[in-house]
Amino acid sequence: MATETPVATVTTAEDLQAQLALAGQDGQKIGFVPTMGGLHAGHSSLMKASVAACDFTVVSIYVNPLQFSPSEDLATYPRDFVADSALCVAQGVDLVFHPSVEEMQKALPRTPVPVSEVAGLWEGANRPDHFAGVATVVAALFSLVGPCQAFFGEKDFQQLAVVQQLVRDLNLPVSVVGCPTWRETDGLALSSRNVYLTATQRDQAPVLYQALKVGADLITNGATNRLKVEAAMTEVLKTADALIVDYCAVVDPQSLQPVEDFEADARLLVAGCFGATRLLDNRAVQEGERYGSC
Ligand code: AMP
Repeated sequence: MATETPVATVTTAEDLQAQLALAGQDGQKIGFVPTMGGLHAGHSSLMKASVAACDFTVVSIYVNPLQFSPSEDLATYPRDFVADSALCVAQGVDLVFHPSVEEMQKALPRTPVPVSEVAGLWEGANRPDHFAGVATVVAALFSLVGPCQAFFGEKDFQQLAVVQQLVRDLNLPVSVVGCPTWRETDGLALSSRNVYLTATQRDQAPVLYQALKVGADLITNGATNRLKVEAAMTEVLKTADALIVDYCAVVDPQSLQPVEDFEADARLLVAGCFGATRLLDNRAVQEGERYGSC
């Protein structure tokens, strides 16, 4: 039986930079996909976008302790390097950076990495240090990898907004590319955390997407009152008795503040917990869905 060639992997900043120097000698354009592993078709879509747009694609697999609060799932977060590596090979990734926590800590900036006011809203209201933790590690990874383009999912829309603002504010020489959300056929957004769901929770989880769709359809059909749209979305969310809703909002896609003017391109956000499993989702009013395997 033929065995697949493993993806080239480095675990230290030094080895990463040695490999990148070789790629850089040929003037190759570096694309970068930061991940925490537990890879699925949503991650594959980012890799595919990078491989298509760039000459040399680096994927980082690093479960970042700084973005977890003490009560969150850092210890149990899905880790399966063999499966992740196979998925990277299948997408034509050139290099995986898979550092230990100790190795990554050496590369973290001592100077605090700033996050804009966007970071204090929604996810940030519930998880105060989350985006500062994301920004610190993303800034360190950008500085180690030096990519021309970095690919992030719209699935984590607020994270994308925080990273885009960081890049603008610090004038970092990288272009941040937002990529669409991939979903299960019933609408549930692919997420590494979906494996935690019990059978009942999994049955109910598409309610997040159904609420987004109801909100988007109302706006498309002329609804102009934000509170009414949010109330209709909340009614849908209430049909899942296993879900504790955290927020459900119609917001401006740049500032992420609630919007009143639906002529603007609104973004709909939802988040909540099934037991200990926190799920979030979002969509534009007009959005084509992407289902299944990328
Ligand atoms: P994570 O491993 O959860 O930190 O995610 C790594 C990247 O994959 C982030 O930019 C996420 O937004 C993106 N991502 C996660 N889930 C999806 C999805 N269902 N569709 C597209 N991108 C995703």
